[in-house]
Amino acid sequence: MITKKIIIAIDGFSSTGKSTIAKKLAAALGYVFVDTGAMYRAVTLHALQQGYIAENYFDQAALEASLSEIVLSFEFNIKRQMSDIHLNGENVEKQIRTLKVSKFVSIVAANSKVRKKLVEQQQAMGVKKGIVMDGRDIGTVVFPNADLKLYMIASPEVRAKRRYDELLERGDDVNYEDVFANVVERDRLDSTRKDSPLVKAKNAIEIDNSNMTLEEQFERLLLMANQIIEA
Ligand code: C5P
Repeated sequence: MITKKIIIAIDGFSSTGKSTIAKKLAAALGYVFVDTGAMYRAVTLHALQQGYIAENYFDQAALEASLSEIVLSFEFNIKRQMSDIHLNGENVEKQIRTLKVSKFVSIVAANSKVRKKLVEQQQAMGVKKGIVMDGRDIGTVVFPNADLKLYMIASPEVRAKRRYDELLERGDDVNYEDVFANVVERDRLDSTRKDSPLVKAKNAIEIDNSNMTLEEQFERLLLMANQIIEA
């Protein structure tokens, strides 16, 4: 019997644990998992490396002109049991997670030409379905017809603490106040931008995971996905 393959779109604010749950869900279903935030982060890293963006400076025309030179790909990393993002052939998974990239990513992600390029690549990845994709506009713009749409929320304090712990674990020298400020500022920029702002899709199911364990979320989402697959 051939099982039906579906598209699962997971959107929500920064550090709501979207990627963690998306990865677990994809592994359980044998689906592809795509972290679209990593794609916006990689383009931001490119803009920083080329000097197109800095404090109070953003040469949007230069970034736009260079978009055709940017090749993004995902390569499976056996150790992490998930894909690392590559920017023009170089594994930049670690470099894109710094607070510096986080500081500029929402400014870069507001650029319509950047969005157009990445959305096209994301839509191509979902052609065969069997995909769990997380981001900000997956259920609204990338896959408006996704079979299951989830909208994750959690308090800013819980989210900043999660991100802070992640950065500390990586060995980054950060303080909680800076991480908290970045989370709040990205929420503001992501939900107020003109092109594809973060909004809950009409038919998305909202999940507040402030007080939920990963296991509780996983069981709930897997049940929802299986109900759709078996329907
Ligand atoms: O998911 P993550 O926090 O890594 O995303 C980093 C940033 O990338 C977000 O704050 C947002 O500005 C941008 N983003 C976006 N659309 C997506 C995914 C991420 O604008 N689909």
